[in-house]
Amino acid sequence: MSKEEHGSRLEQTSPAAGDGAERPAPATWLQHHRYRAPAGFASAQMPTYRASTVLFDNVGQMRSRQWRDKSGYTYGLHGTPASFTLERRLADLEGAEHAVLCPSGLSAIALIDLALLERGDQVLIPCNAYAPGRDLAQHMLKSWGIEVAIYDPMRPATLRERLGPRSRLLWLEAPGSVSMEMPDLRALVALARDAGVLTAIDNTWSAGLALRPFELGIDLSMQALTKYQSGGADVLMGAALTRDDRLHESLLRAHMHLGLGVGGDDVSLMLRGLASLPLRYAAHDASARQVARWLEQRPEVARVLHPALPQSPGHAYWQRDFRAAAGLFSVVFDEAIEPRRVDALVDSLRCFGIGYSWGGPLSLAVPYDMASTRAVLTPAAAPDEDRAAQPGYLLRLNIGLEQPEDLIADLEQAMRKAL
Ligand SMILES: *Cc1c(COP(=O)(O)O)cnc(C)c1O
Repeated sequence: MSKEEHGSRLEQTSPAAGDGAERPAPATWLQHHRYRAPAGFASAQMPTYRASTVLFDNVGQMRSRQWRDKSGYTYGLHGTPASFTLERRLADLEGAEHAVLCPSGLSAIALIDLALLERGDQVLIPCNAYAPGRDLAQHMLKSWGIEVAIYDPMRPATLRERLGPRSRLLWLEAPGSVSMEMPDLRALVALARDAGVLTAIDNTWSAGLALRPFELGIDLSMQALTKYQSGGADVLMGAALTRDDRLHESLLRAHMHLGLGVGGDDVSLMLRGLASLPLRYAAHDASARQVARWLEQRPEVARVLHPALPQSPGHAYWQRDFRAAAGLFSVVFDEAIEPRRVDALVDSLRCFGIGYSWGGPLSLAVPYDMASTRAVLTPAAAPDEDRAAQPGYLLRLNIGLEQPEDLIADLEQAMRKAL
């Protein structure tokens, strides 16, 4: 253990110390024990660093140490060797210069909003965005005097109509949450650029592997590391990434004000998961496409909403901008099949868990009623005929790491039973 790691200036005592002299009580020496394990323990993986307090050698060092440039350590909230390492790996993976960790994906969305928006600004959010992030804007941001405009990402004209002198931040998401439409990111980014508006993408579906947002000119990327980077369905974490030094500074300042630190154990788990990310992502992708193609052939299925399938909305944009696909997609059943029968199908599945989130090893199935959310979210954004074409009730599947043939057999038995 290095000197810096243990605050060497504290007197180091132990039960054997001080022959005949006054011995410190166990309550004291247990805090200041003199044993130091030999240096040079080169574990293959970075150890777990847990800290609130970080010790300094002297007051001068404490005063001069900077938390913001990550050149040293000041307090557990502002980073440990492991959290800095995780941030560096995430930034390199996605082609960013900087990454900031947050305790969840949703808190990373909140960080970007709170770091960049002020009273009087307008933020633009796609109608098919991750719902809790949109709710944050429509409830909290609105009440603080920030204008929230919802646009339809499949109709860039609806964005053009809403852009104005107060527009500050455009959120993008690819594909849309649950409904899985793939927008023309290049067209949306071009509109934002022309209007001098910052762009941020919820890039969770691509895990930072399948899409390189900074190469498209997007200013900020947000990841719910909870999904594929963790891969275990057992850690919550998020990240906000950018290439821009000044945007990063703003993120860091807001991050400090809000106290959005992450726990040392969670960082360890995330580093462990990250090591196998490319292999897992490829496996999820291959299995999901196999299951999706099988579903597409079924008479009970009206549409499979998977960006890598040619019939899926915005497939050409996926083909142009993405290198791979995630294991998450949605299924629309024939309109003769009532929602309660889709629910019964889910209840009949044996290989799929019923639960939120995705990106883990266990396959999951969740039915969503899109009709009710759409009506609220697209006030006049879409013409009536477009609305009619939009899915009402659909089933979202997270394809895990099970053998795809077993998942298909499970879907088949559940469909036979429930539909
Ligand atoms: C899950 C998810 C989030 C939020 O991540 P949490 O860690 O659960 O807060 C944000 N965006 C998308 C697209 C997600 O799927």
